Amino acid sequence: LVQIRRVRKSFGAHEVLRDISLAVPAGSVTVLLGPSGSGKSTLLRCVNHLETIDGGRIIVDGELIGYRQAGNKTHEMTPRQIARQRQGIGMVFQRFNLFPHLTALENIMEAPVGVAGRSRAMAKGRALELLDRVGLGDFAGHYPAQLSGGQQQRIAIARALAMDPKLMLFDEPTSALDPELVGDVLDVMRELARDGMTMIVVTHEIGFARGVADQVVFMDGGVVVEAGPPHEVLDRPQRQRTRNFLESVK
Ligand code: ATP
Ligand code: MG
Repeated sequence: LVQIRRVRKSFGAHEVLRDISLAVPAGSVTVLLGPSGSGKSTLLRCVNHLETIDGGRIIVDGELIGYRQAGNKTHEMTPRQIARQRQGIGMVFQRFNLFPHLTALENIMEAPVGVAGRSRAMAKGRALELLDRVGLGDFAGHYPAQLSGGQQQRIAIARALAMDPKLMLFDEPTSALDPELVGDVLDVMRELARDGMTMIVVTHEIGFARGVADQVVFMDGGVVVEAGPPHEVLDRPQRQRTRNFLESVK
């Protein structure tokens, strides 16, 4: 479903992504691991064109992300085209960025009604279903400030799902949570994976990676150092850099 081919990205003179290639088959889960500053967030942000890229290309479901080919030239898409593309890609960040003045239900309904133009009745039915799915059926009327971090993060997942994305991107969705709240969020993600959602997940939760990932990708210094099934990358890493990193997150 996702093809990342030879992607390069610099901020000024700092080359953050150097020739990254990666394929994510439909219905599979890819976990991205790597030390701070290795380019994981930048790569995720490139996949829904929150960042431009300096080279290579990213294709999601057959569509070139962020750019249009005209003859042998490549142009960035219009904001409108970029917005349309992003509708198919859900993203959940480390910090639950819910709208504080909207209830859980309204947060989930906001994009379907405001962006996709669905009727309030349809959007509400679907939002209630999603609340149930993330285990928060009783919290529809709660405001973010009345919810725990873990509950807020599950609402953020439900909100992303409300647009029926074909791909979900997660950037350290549990790293800002108190330890006792991490499990509920990982459970929701596990269930999503079981239901066949295609996911790219940046996380240091090695247990999640081992149990759920089809592919584990270890990045360092803007390159893919090692990639493969979890039992290979996590249990029999070939590279010293991977071993050092895994030792550090144990
Ligand atoms: P972490 O584990 O800390 O989240 P990461 O692997 O997600 O790290 P990135 O956030 O992708 O790393 O950042 C990679 C590098 O790019 C870092 O050196 C960072 O300072 C730099 N960087 C990221 N965004 C920008 C930006 N908008 N402008 C300039 N430099 C940036
Ligand atoms: Mg990051």
